[in-house]
This record gives sequence, C-alpha cells and structure tokens, in this order.
Amino acid sequence: MPDTTPPRPIALFDMHAQQRLIRPEIDRRIAAVLDGGRFINGPEVAEIERELAAFAGVGHAVGVSSGTDALQIAMMAEGIGRGDAVFLPAFTYTATAEVPLVLGATPVFVDVEEESFNISLPDLRARLARVLAEGRLRPRAVVGVDLFGLPADWPAIRALCADHGMFALDDAAQAFGAALHGRRLGGWADATALSFYPTKTLGCYGDGGMILTEDAAKAELYRSLRTHGEGKTRYEVERTGMNGRLDSIQAAVLLAKLPLFEGEIAARRRVAGWYRAALSCHAAIGLQAEPPGAENVYGLFTIRLPDAGTRARVQAALSAAGIPSAIYYPKPLHHQPAYRAAHAAGFAGEPPPLPVAEALAGRVLSLPMHPYLTEAEVARVAGAVLSAL
Ligand SMILES: *Cc1c(COP(=O)(O)O)cnc(C)c1O
Repeated sequence: MPDTTPPRPIALFDMHAQQRLIRPEIDRRIAAVLDGGRFINGPEVAEIERELAAFAGVGHAVGVSSGTDALQIAMMAEGIGRGDAVFLPAFTYTATAEVPLVLGATPVFVDVEEESFNISLPDLRARLARVLAEGRLRPRAVVGVDLFGLPADWPAIRALCADHGMFALDDAAQAFGAALHGRRLGGWADATALSFYPTKTLGCYGDGGMILTEDAAKAELYRSLRTHGEGKTRYEVERTGMNGRLDSIQAAVLLAKLPLFEGEIAARRRVAGWYRAALSCHAAIGLQAEPPGAENVYGLFTIRLPDAGTRARVQAALSAAGIPSAIYYPKPLHHQPAYRAAHAAGFAGEPPPLPVAEALAGRVLSLPMHPYLTEAEVARVAGAVLSAL
C-alpha cells in the first residue's frame, strides 16, 4: 500500500525539534534556578557570560535583557545623545534605528548592497562626508548589522570608524555564530550586541541579550548601566542607567541549549547549501552573496526576486503547498512613519536617496530556515518556489 501519511508540516522556525532533544536538561537547569532562588543575577548569568565570551573568543560578555537593550547600553556607555549622528543601514529590524532616537541622537540611514543586503561602504562614506561638511551633527557611531546572519564588512567599517573617532557597534542580533576570516563575530567591532529572542540562532524562552567586548573598563560600565547605574555598592548611583538585566532562568535555558549550538550552526549552513544548490540555477532568483572569508550562519534564508509581483506569486505558491514564508522587511526604515522626521533631520536639505533598500523591501522573501530541516523538506520548498517562476 502506498504511504499516504501527509508530510510533516514545515515551519519557518522550529523550536520544538530542538526542545525535544534537550527537554530533560532544560527542566533540570530551570529546576536548579527554582531551587537556588537567585532569580536575578544568579550564578547561571555569570556562567553563560563566561561560556559565550569563550565561544566568541572575546574578553568580556555582559548579559542584558534583550538585543535592543544591548544596543542601548552600548550607546549609553559612549554618551551618545543629542547632536550626534549614528550611521546605520536602512534595511534592518526597527530596533537598530530606535535606540539612537530614544537616546536623543539622529539615526542617519545608509543604503545597503544589493547582493549582501548589508550596509554599503561607498554610501556610508558619502553620507559621512556630507554630515561632516554640513557640520550640524557630530558623527559618533556606525551600527553595522549582519543581516540574516551574514557578517558585514567589519574590517572596512572599523577602519572608517578609527579614521573618524567613531564607535563601531555590531548589531549581531541575527548572526551569533557567524564568522569572518576565521574569527567569530564578537570581537570585530568595539562592542557586539546579541539577541536571544527565541527565533534567533541562539534563543532563550523569553527576552535576553548580551554585549561582547574586549574592553574591560567598558564591560564594567555595561554592568553598572544594566543595574540602574549602580556604583561599587548596591545603593550608590553613579550614573543614569536602566533595568537591563538578564534573568537567571533565561541564562539557564541558554546553558542547556549551548551544547547543541555548534552543531546547529553547521546544520544551518548545510541547509543553506541545499537551498543554494536547488535555487542557484534560476536566473530570477538572487541569493545572498557569500563574500570571501564570510561564514553566514543563516539566521534567515532570504532570496531576492525580480519584482513585487513575482514575490507575491511565489508566496502564494508556497502558501498553497502549506509552506510558510515571510517578508523581512517590507518597508525600509526611512519610510516608517516613526522615523521619517529623523530621516529628514540628518541633512540640511533633501537626504540622498536609498534606492537599494527601497528596491529590496519590495523583492525579498525569507524561506523556512532552522537547523532541523531535512534535505527532502528543502527540496519541497525549493520545488514550490521554482514552480511559481
Ligand atoms: C532581533 C533584532 C534586534 C532586537 O533584539 P531583541 O532581543 O528582540 O530586542 C535588534 N537588531 C536586529 C537586527 C534584530 O534582528
């Protein structure tokens, strides 16, 4: 008799497959927090900080309450605020742009590269030159985003920051586990922000984040800022801080997941390889570039289609086949209602256009991506994509 059982549904992200592998260890780790009763700043927080600093090969790791707070604390430590320009890509998640605005600084949106989806260095240099020439804002920082898991061009960003006394901040929220020239993200920028949102490459079961740095003094400052700016003793307030701590229970979940992480990174790259082999044959499909030396961790697998109509057809074909897909991101940040005024404030007169970010928003599509996809499942997804072209 033919096998008539329907195939297992394909998830965009699958957190249950992983949980099934380590559920007893997760339960044991959470129970240890409940027994110990140190729900804030428990030993699990220090332990995951040590583990992840070692994993990334950096000197210091400071656990915080989210990726957004990691970005905010790193910028607060630099004293970034009113009158400061913070350069960041226009094609990214909203949090990257929100943080400078919350601190009173001006985000300067930079265009991205068509092939890598990451910040364009020529456009960054051009905008920096114009901000300097206009003299209205002080260039203070560049936030590079490793979009979908692909490292940005960190050697070039760092060199530009060094030349202009700017802070280089890596928003690696989608890219923990990725590497550049054999070195993991974490030590490429002055500070690196991680997110442990459940669907990120290393996720907890709630909100969480971390800041990585080689600078011991900055790490101490981050610890103070995440705890209301406390000084040497608990009730001495040395600076304006925030409540930005990582919970012990979330640290315990991360510790339980960590033994799988290395294998999951390899699995994501294997899955991406299957996708790339299946889809690269079609001229209508653009794949995210693989620049020399960059090891994408594929937090998302995102393709570029010729136009919005083709994308809608592909998405409909996937949906008809029971396959989820998503658009990251349908609108570049400078078009978001909340950021339009800030975009206009970056320059005297008309800001330079951002044609690539605008075009990508109409053409990208993210396909199911997680470490537990099988080759047959990837073939099903790729087949549905190709059937619509
Ligand atoms: C997820 C994400 C963030 C924010 O992380 P949270 O932990 O959700 O606060 C920041 N930047 C990028 C690029 C992200 O993808």
